[in-house]
Amino acid sequence: MGNAIMRKPVNPYFASGTSNRFGRSSLGGGVTATNSNARILTRPPRVPDVPATRELSEMVNMGLNSEHARGMMIQRLREQGITNEKVLAAMMAVPRHLFVDQGLASRAYEDAALPIGYGQTISQPWVVARMISVLCEHGVPAKVLEVGGGCGYQAAVLAQLTREVYVIERVRGLYDQARDRLKAMGLLPRIRLSYGDGMLGLPASAPFDAIIAAAAGKEIPQTLIEQLAVGGRLIAPEGTTAQRLILLERTGTNTWKRTELESFRFVPLRGGVQS
Ligand code: SAH
Repeated sequence: MGNAIMRKPVNPYFASGTSNRFGRSSLGGGVTATNSNARILTRPPRVPDVPATRELSEMVNMGLNSEHARGMMIQRLREQGITNEKVLAAMMAVPRHLFVDQGLASRAYEDAALPIGYGQTISQPWVVARMISVLCEHGVPAKVLEVGGGCGYQAAVLAQLTREVYVIERVRGLYDQARDRLKAMGLLPRIRLSYGDGMLGLPASAPFDAIIAAAAGKEIPQTLIEQLAVGGRLIAPEGTTAQRLILLERTGTNTWKRTELESFRFVPLRGGVQS
C-alpha cells in the first residue's frame, strides 16, 4: 500500500490558506489583522497605501474572495500599529462577513463597527485587535471570559488563540444567533456561550486568566475584578459619555494595577437580561 496522505478535515467556514489553531497557519502577503465593536474617538493613524473603504466594499461586491479583503484588513491593522502576529493570524482566520447581516457583508472588512441588531454593534476590527493584543502582551492567556458576546465575532477570534473561551451575552436574540453561528462553524462547545448578565461574571468557572468586555459601564464591576486570576489581565471600557479603555492587572490576592489606555466609544454595559 502506498503512503496515505492524511488531511485534516476542512471547515468550510474558515478560508483555506488562513490560519487557525486547528489548521495550518500562513498569513499571505505580509498581512496582519484586528477588530472591535466600538467607534473610536482617538482614531488610529490613517493608512495612505491601503485601498479606501469603498474600494474594499466594491471588491467584496464584485465577488472577489473575502480572504483577499480580510488580508487587506490585516494589512491595515498592521500599519495601524498592531504587531502581535498571533492576534493578526487569528483575525485573518475568522470570516468577519459571516457575523453580520448579509446586506452588510460587503462592509465587513472596513475598519468600522457595524449594527448587529438590538441596538448593538460588532466591534471595529482595530478595537478587537487592540484589546486582544493587550491581553496577550505577556503571552496568550489560557482561560478567557468575554462579557458581551454580541454576534460572536470576537469570541471566534479568541477561540483561534486559546483553548478555553467563556462568553456571556445578555440579549436573548443575539445569544441565539451567536450560538447558531458558532455551532455551524464548529466552535461550540469549545466556546462556552451563556445567556445572562455578564456583570456577574461566571463564578462557577472563575478565576480567569483574562477578562475582556466590549461594553462600557460607569465602573468596571467589582465582581469581574474579583474573578481575575492572580497574574491575570482584564481589559474593559469605563465611563458613560467619556469612555476610556482600562487595563487591570491582578498583581496579588488583594492588589491590582490599573492602566488607562485609549478613548473609545462602546455600547453600554447593562445589568440583567433582555429576553
Ligand atoms: N464582542 C462583540 C461585541 C458586541 S457589542 C462582537 O464581537 O460582536 C457588546 C455586547 O455587550 C452587546 O451585544 C450587548 O448586548 C452586550 N452586553 C451589554 N451589557 C452586558 C451584560 N451585562 N452582560 C452580557 N452582555 C452585555
